[in-house]
Amino acid sequence: MRWNNPGSAGVLPANRFLPPPRFAWPDDQRCAAMLCFDVDGETTALSEDPALARRRTLMSQCEYGPRVGVPRLLGLLAHLKVPATFFVPGYIAENHPRMIEAIVAGGHEIGLHGYLHEKLANLSEVEEEAILVRSIEILTRLTGTRPVGYRAPWFEINPWTPELLARHEIHYCASEMGDDVPYFHDNGLVEIPGQWMLEDWEQFAFNADPAWGFVPENCEKVFDLWWREFDAMHDMGCCFVLTLHPWLSGRPSRVRLLEDLVNAMREKGHVWFVRGNEIATYVRSHPQARREIDFDAENSNLIKT
Ligand SMILES: [Zn+2]
Repeated sequence: MRWNNPGSAGVLPANRFLPPPRFAWPDDQRCAAMLCFDVDGETTALSEDPALARRRTLMSQCEYGPRVGVPRLLGLLAHLKVPATFFVPGYIAENHPRMIEAIVAGGHEIGLHGYLHEKLANLSEVEEEAILVRSIEILTRLTGTRPVGYRAPWFEINPWTPELLARHEIHYCASEMGDDVPYFHDNGLVEIPGQWMLEDWEQFAFNADPAWGFVPENCEKVFDLWWREFDAMHDMGCCFVLTLHPWLSGRPSRVRLLEDLVNAMREKGHVWFVRGNEIATYVRSHPQARREIDFDAENSNLIKT
């Protein structure tokens, strides 16, 4: 079956608005594509209420991520030969060490995602730092490499979070939504921004009680949503950051959706499929790669590293 793929027709409308690319990507790449898997697993429920541990059906839905979704998605990534970035809460890493081994063996990056997927807004700076230190220790021990990337649980960071991350030698944060290309925080920390439109929770999450999500959407509609955004981001030289949860996107039809999306992106050409740590390294060594279009950024703090 062919998806409805408006970008592959190859015919641009006359007079299409095509501004210069927002970012100078390496070689002749036109845009970057960072595939992120947030392996929240059991913490999806436990961070809401530890008493939910008794709810076997709910917990089994969460466990599906690390137990079934991740192995299947690792298989797909190997099949497609694309690298990805897995953000894993410390609790999930401790409870699924062989999953961590398999992600590392697949050549993927593992980044920080809290310990029990804690909402940062509920934490003091001291509590947040303690969780960060504990999570760094766990991932370092289980992967053999110190993590350099961070995605805040629920995507939400505190005003002090960039400073905490820099203090603990984290190279990049992938939590804000303030642009569609990477930027620098005031302290030189790289931000690789995402956006809710390119998230699977809004499309696929559903649980009866506690009430999560909305209506599980048809994959064809979701392909169309993500493809149109990718296609335009490609034309405008942006950084396509797709965030998927294995308990949602590890389900069979959605694995197929991801396969078709990556293949369509490849067909478009000049796409840099890349891990977060490589984007951060590139951005730090090429601070001029960003084309500023923000009227308020005259005295921008872009170049502080
Ligand atoms: Zn998460």
